[in-house]
Amino acid sequence: MSDSNSLFVFDEELEIDGSNIVKKIKVLTVEDDLNYQHALTNSLKEMTPEDNCEIEILTANSVSQAALVLSLHPDIALTFIDVVMEDDDSGLRLVSTIREAIGNADMRIVLLTGQPGFAPEQQIMKSLDIDEYWNKSDVSAEKLQSIVTSNLRTWKYITQIASARKGLQLVLDASRSINSKHDMRSFSKAVLEEISNILNVTEGGGIMCSTQTNGEIIKAHISTANGCFDGFEGRLVDEKILLPQIYSDFERALDEKRHIFSEHHTVFYFCNKEIAGESYITIVQSDNEISEQNEYLLKVFSENVSTGFSNIALLNKLTELAYTDVSLNMHNRNWLTREIKNMNLHEQYQTRLLVFEVEQFEEKAFTFGHDFCQKLLKEVYNNLITIFDGYSARIAIINNSSFGLLVNANFDITDEMIASLIRQKCVITSVKQYADLRILDLALSTVLNIIPEKIISIAESSLNDSQSASLKYIKHTQEKTEALTNRYSLMARLRRVIGAGSLQVALQPKMDLVNLTPVGFEALARWQVDDGSFINPDIFIELAETAGLISELDSVIFDKIIETIHKLSELGVNLPVAFNASAFDLVDSDYCKSILHKLDKANIPPEMLELEITETQAISNYDLIRGSLDQFMALGIKVSIDDFGTGYSSISHITEIPANTLKIDKCFLNNIDGNDNNQYIFEMIVNLAKRFEFSIIVEGVETSEQCDWVKKIGCDVAQGYYFSKPLFFDDLTTWLKQYGKV
Ligand code: C2E
Ligand code: CA
Ligand code: CA
Repeated sequence: MSDSNSLFVFDEELEIDGSNIVKKIKVLTVEDDLNYQHALTNSLKEMTPEDNCEIEILTANSVSQAALVLSLHPDIALTFIDVVMEDDDSGLRLVSTIREAIGNADMRIVLLTGQPGFAPEQQIMKSLDIDEYWNKSDVSAEKLQSIVTSNLRTWKYITQIASARKGLQLVLDASRSINSKHDMRSFSKAVLEEISNILNVTEGGGIMCSTQTNGEIIKAHISTANGCFDGFEGRLVDEKILLPQIYSDFERALDEKRHIFSEHHTVFYFCNKEIAGESYITIVQSDNEISEQNEYLLKVFSENVSTGFSNIALLNKLTELAYTDVSLNMHNRNWLTREIKNMNLHEQYQTRLLVFEVEQFEEKAFTFGHDFCQKLLKEVYNNLITIFDGYSARIAIINNSSFGLLVNANFDITDEMIASLIRQKCVITSVKQYADLRILDLALSTVLNIIPEKIISIAESSLNDSQSASLKYIKHTQEKTEALTNRYSLMARLRRVIGAGSLQVALQPKMDLVNLTPVGFEALARWQVDDGSFINPDIFIELAETAGLISELDSVIFDKIIETIHKLSELGVNLPVAFNASAFDLVDSDYCKSILHKLDKANIPPEMLELEITETQAISNYDLIRGSLDQFMALGIKVSIDDFGTGYSSISHITEIPANTLKIDKCFLNNIDGNDNNQYIFEMIVNLAKRFEFSIIVEGVETSEQCDWVKKIGCDVAQGYYFSKPLFFDDLTTWLKQYGKV
């Protein structure tokens, strides 16, 4: 998700600068000759090492004393060890103890000997992990100075690297942990925890708050708190909560828009690039002093936090988007469906759905243009809000030309009210107009066994069935629900065509936008009935799913796809064909194996196949199908998330789903021309896809303007009527000729 390499970019300005604190560096001498030890310590005392350091001298006169000192001071930098003490090889054994038993590899060890012949230098240096070996008589005061200086310098260097490495590992782990969180709550909780980890906070604590700058007034709501701030969630940040110094740094961070580091607290400032005026402040109070090293690590970590905040903001916006009609700026069909879904049985009994359809909308769009119709819809929307004011109605636009409205079942709809609803006066660009509406009145108690996704469709069908077509106000009944859902006959016919294998496959090209050449195809199921017409795939696919026929249908279609890949390859066209997989199949852990078996039998390499799964199916069955998707990807079969952007609130899972490509739903191209908001949203999705390293396919490209535009904002591949409708094999062969492919 994030660019972990950036952790290792050492910014110039982050460099740790010198400070005035005097550090003590420990030097140990182990020597049983007290006179020599005295001389040694005296010389050491005279020394002034570089960089504000002071030497602290420790002494031991035997190996056992040395062991005690070493256990009390694990941070000794340099040790002088006499070789011969109690025993001839005491010093040598002590070296082994330090390196192997204690495991201290960083300490510098200088061996000293009075009997050079006894333990020859070459042999010792080879067999023991020591840094220098000197004959006592050769160590003058001057020599000692140079031994100490060079060894201390090396030791400092080694320990700094070791602690930087440890710190960076900590930051890396912390970043991984926060990047797996996709909602603001768990993200901010993880950020606080990780900062406390980095700082090793035990008695302090932290808060995370979001601020919305609105002119001069700043309000910071605490969203997460831990440690000494536990229980402050939901409160506003003020002087009562924070120590005066911290509060003033909080104000300063907001004012100067930057992080502030202090000895016992840090205040992080993160602005949200995606939402103007919004920023996040994280305050951590630490009982431990915050070292320069930690400050540095926090700065590195905060880069990752910043990215995390903008990613979450993007994801949240996308989620919101699924419930909004962006060009009209009102709730959409998904939203109304969710409202129904959230009702319990009692509430359903208490609620009615009214559907208002603007008559002759298509004709109006044709005659007066798109802008006029958008204004008309807004007028009608405002009228409905006014008429139903006070009845706690919930309203959404549910398709091009209709609104859905939920209202209390006891609401009394009078004749006068109906009259004012079916003919509404609208003023559009100062001209008076009339909008004629038809109304369907459906008590949710007449559709109790129907899933919420289907209820609105039933209302629409009920409004437009042959008996109702001429009526302005229609009351829906239980009997009508039954008639509309009685799909047994269609189901029986579908079962027969699947059994007979007589479904067909149409192929729609996917075009590379740079070279404008086909780079693959999507296979789509087609069902032609006796009179030559085609049943809409949306209808029969859904029917196959509810009737448990989808796996069989997909298998029939898959066999046809294999045939098609063969026929294309005979023509010299070796481009991958994508099939639409269903979650019903993917939950079976052997599904991938069965596909591979079919490919093997037909001698087709896996790269010639791609898989598409809709975002909604992928996300709602996420845990059950990710294993299968992993298997497909491992085989080299690319996975695309279809209809991207229309899914539901758990969209954040998208970052975890195994997939190569996001296929942006065609609804995002609607009204893209001249609509800044739609353009912005489209770009945002492309942005998000790129950030998570998906490639992008745009579907539903119908015009050259749309084609130019999607290319301009960085889409790689597109599909749509502008290039070609889905075609049967012979027509596809003709189409391919213009690209010199056959
Ligand atoms: P989908 O996978 O999103 O397929 C794209 C749909 O958009 C197709 O509708 C295609 O004909 C249509 N389309 C392509 N270009 C354009 C364009 O420029 N403008 C517009 N307005 N539409 C365009 P179709 O063929 O009706 O398929 C509907 C859905 O049925 C598919 O949506 C897919 O989810 C499902 N489906 C189709 N074949 C199969 C299949 O073999 N198995 C399964 N499980 N589902 C299938
Ligand atoms: Ca598809
Ligand atoms: Ca699609």
